[in-house]
Amino acid sequence: MTGLAYIENPLDRCANRRGDASWIATLRQAKNVRMVHINGDKTIVVDGRIVTSLPSDDPEPIFLGLDHKGAPWFASTSNVAENLRDLRSLALEGVLPGPELGILAQARALVHWHARRGYCSNCGGRNEVADAGYRRHCPSCNIDHFPRTDPVVIIVVRREGHILLGRQSSWQPGMFSALAGFMEPGETIEAAARREVFEEAGVRVGAVTYVASQPWPFPASLMIGLIGEAESADIRLDRQELDDARWFPFAEAMLMVERRHPDGLWATNPMAIAHQLVRAALQSP
Ligand SMILES: [Zn+2]
Repeated sequence: MTGLAYIENPLDRCANRRGDASWIATLRQAKNVRMVHINGDKTIVVDGRIVTSLPSDDPEPIFLGLDHKGAPWFASTSNVAENLRDLRSLALEGVLPGPELGILAQARALVHWHARRGYCSNCGGRNEVADAGYRRHCPSCNIDHFPRTDPVVIIVVRREGHILLGRQSSWQPGMFSALAGFMEPGETIEAAARREVFEEAGVRVGAVTYVASQPWPFPASLMIGLIGEAESADIRLDRQELDDARWFPFAEAMLMVERRHPDGLWATNPMAIAHQLVRAALQSP
């Protein structure tokens, strides 16, 4: 899918080598090392490129991978305050090349995970960083902790030439999107999607088709994009979740995708998977 943010990541993560501490230490000292500075949701950007040449005082930067020139990339927690841009704005505005956004998604998710996993969730002991940042080990109870990714199902539901979109009151005026929610333990992707749509809009969904996925590092989601075929039509809103949900005829939905709707309604930004799912739902049989 073209235009989606965070989906391109050119780095070779070298998962089978990053446990070699001496190799990682050598890479840290390499002349061509690239350091991504992460401060909350932000990184340093100058002239439309992320700045990777500044030194870091982070004692345990995370190894991100090798680029096609063999340069090692690391991510560090940073307190740098100048030239910061937040990752969402960078994606929305299309400021950075796609591969740099992909690297930022990896960096941001990992830095956030480490910031909250200093102590063992099993025994409360102090965790140690291992595998160049892809594991934390608790020496007290000998348990390993791994970075997590939280799957979210996001689905455009169709029925007889219409698609179901909803909106929350906190969103920008006129914006409608696909329905979405976190998967729960012990659920299949299809079951989670059917549950979310029924809970939020009261619509029953039958067949569910996978379309695409998108890392969404705020802080650690993976959006799993789906198209579903409705088995019922009546909408019953859960007002806690949604402010509005409607069946839009295909022609009207296309106006929303193209930002030409007469009432100013629109179907999210092209960098978000919801927008691309709406396009796909209107085009595929
Ligand atoms: Zn422990």
